[in-house]
Amino acid sequence: MYDVVIIGAGAVGSATARELSRHKGRFLVLEADCDVCSGTTKANSAIVHAGYDAVPESLKAKYNVWGSRVMEALSEELDFPYKKTGSLVVCRKDQDRTELERLLEQGKKNGVEGLSIIERDQIIEMEPQIADEVTCALYAPTAAIICPFGMNIAFAENAADNGVEFAFNSKVTGVKKVGDHFSIKTENSEYQARTVVNAAGVYADIIHNMVSEKKIHITARRGQYELLDKSAAGICSHTIFQLPSKLGKGILVTPTVHGNVLIGPTAEDIPDKEDTETTAYGLSRVEEMSALSIKDIPYRSVITSFAGLRAHEDGGDFIIGEAADCSGFFDAAGIESPGLSSAPAIGADLAMMVAESLSLRENERFNGTRIGILDPKKLSAEDRNTLIKEHPEYGQIICRCESVTAGEIKDAITRTLGARTLDGIKRRTRAGMGRCQAGFCTPRQMELLEKYAGLSPEQVTKSGGDSLLVYGRTK
Ligand SMILES: Cc1cc2nc3c(=O)[nH]c(=O)nc-3n(C[C@H](O)[C@H](O)[C@H](O)COP(=O)(O)OP(=O)(O)OC[C@H]3O[C@@H](n4cnc5c(N)ncnc54)[C@H](O)[C@@H]3O)c2cc1C
Repeated sequence: MYDVVIIGAGAVGSATARELSRHKGRFLVLEADCDVCSGTTKANSAIVHAGYDAVPESLKAKYNVWGSRVMEALSEELDFPYKKTGSLVVCRKDQDRTELERLLEQGKKNGVEGLSIIERDQIIEMEPQIADEVTCALYAPTAAIICPFGMNIAFAENAADNGVEFAFNSKVTGVKKVGDHFSIKTENSEYQARTVVNAAGVYADIIHNMVSEKKIHITARRGQYELLDKSAAGICSHTIFQLPSKLGKGILVTPTVHGNVLIGPTAEDIPDKEDTETTAYGLSRVEEMSALSIKDIPYRSVITSFAGLRAHEDGGDFIIGEAADCSGFFDAAGIESPGLSSAPAIGADLAMMVAESLSLRENERFNGTRIGILDPKKLSAEDRNTLIKEHPEYGQIICRCESVTAGEIKDAITRTLGARTLDGIKRRTRAGMGRCQAGFCTPRQMELLEKYAGLSPEQVTKSGGDSLLVYGRTK
């Protein structure tokens, strides 16, 4: 019998798992996919929002501002990339600045520090390539960017190092209350738990509705993006939003923590919770709208496009806490944007609610510090030479675009909850994230998966399931 079963190993499920591991107990995370960070957390804008967008008193406002305040310290404790860049919401000539003033007041009510409205002269000093039509902007100095994979993986690794179990390829197909506990069925197993945490992203309504008569409904709201090569890095240094609409925060232009530029997302309600296709129309809209914020964006430098699905619940707010008609069942549902920014706070709050309900005692052996994968590029030339002498694999470049070495990939495969797919390696090390998008390094990565994880080339997949790379030998 587990004390807690968490459904979903995205940012929210993994943050909750890590926070729960501060307590003594048996905890299990069930994940449908073959790795952590396989849902919405892998495809979003990666912004730590300052917190002015959310309606005051809403759960989005509460968890966003809380998450934004703790994120920097957390990134140091768990060793994932974070950069406080600040953000601008820009207003154009043809738009009304009263909306900016409304956002400013809303932000103040939510407790966001340092907000101000700035005029074109100041904007040009901060962003020389700002579009000619921009007249003024809301400046939020506390906004930041992170690596979403880095945060999700760090939470999960640290949770596992503190004793939380993870079961992958374990899609939950049924949850039932049986007396004072829950029976949780997956496609190939069955588990018993005293409590359940539902962190299933776009599927959180399906899981919730298995145990509660108070039904909820989540629509997948797709957002398409284009990612530009690092050569475009100079075009902006802040996250630049346009005025928000009913469907979201609009198309943004932002640097990423790794030195690329990201433009997007669209906002399209779609019937299929798996449909992460990009479309010609969506991407042309991204280009057309981003040009209203920054001029001369080098669209020829686009190296890839992708889409993520927001989990939009009909009520429009996060649903967090114990279900009203099912004690012991805790939801983290409707976690659309600003869910990434809020994940640390949602995880801390949910874990506290669950721990209190079960009267869990403190885990004195909890160690909250995690050391990420060593990146030789961050070392001095002298230290790098010493490292390569001791561990020659750090002198062997596998991914030329991102300069990722065999040493880093070995670490990604062999560490806690290690990578078993090409996407798993990519999200942990950035191998394959560069200009050639893994065109050159795929065979080398497959060799390393064979060497360190014992997977034959015919078993290696891009992202689990039937995403095989080779089908057999021809000679
Ligand atoms: C276009 C877009 C832009 C965004 N931009 C931002 C941003 O800039 N800043 C921000 O703060 N937020 C942003 N968000 C929101 C943020 O990405 C999400 O709120 C957050 O990633 C949600 O995390 P999660 O753990 O709830 O869900 P997920 O990451 O989707 O994790 C849910 C997990 O549950 C698993 N699962 C589902 N069903 C089952 C089942 N039956 N059994 C077992 N496992 C199951 C899935 O496989 C998945 O791994 C954006 C979202 C989108 C789509």
